[in-house]
Amino acid sequence: METSGSTQAAEYARRAVEKAKRDLALAQDRLERTESAERALDSEQKLAVELHEALCTWNHTDGCGWHYEVKDGIADWSRYDHANYLKRAKALAAEFPSIDHETLGAIVIQSAKRV
Ligand SMILES: [Zn+2]
Repeated sequence: METSGSTQAAEYARRAVEKAKRDLALAQDRLERTESAERALDSEQKLAVELHEALCTWNHTDGCGWHYEVKDGIADWSRYDHANYLKRAKALAAEFPSIDHETLGAIVIQSAKRV
């Protein structure tokens, strides 16, 4: 026969497990939406992501809004920093129309590396 204390401890543990399962399901749902949104990016948006990763030197606490321009794991391309890097990606792609966007991204990443 359980004491009241161990019954309470078991109930607390059961509730903690249920909460963890709900949190895990929410996190999995968010991850799936983010991965789906990343797969749906067009080539200019992918280039914009690479330009941001290679070139942004601001801190991401209060200097650059890139990581805040996201809702439910999905980037909002109408917000300032996403729109700015998308504009730069389009300008770069227009400047070098014979080079595919993936190659342009690789060139930018390589040239931004500090040697
Ligand atoms: Zn940034």
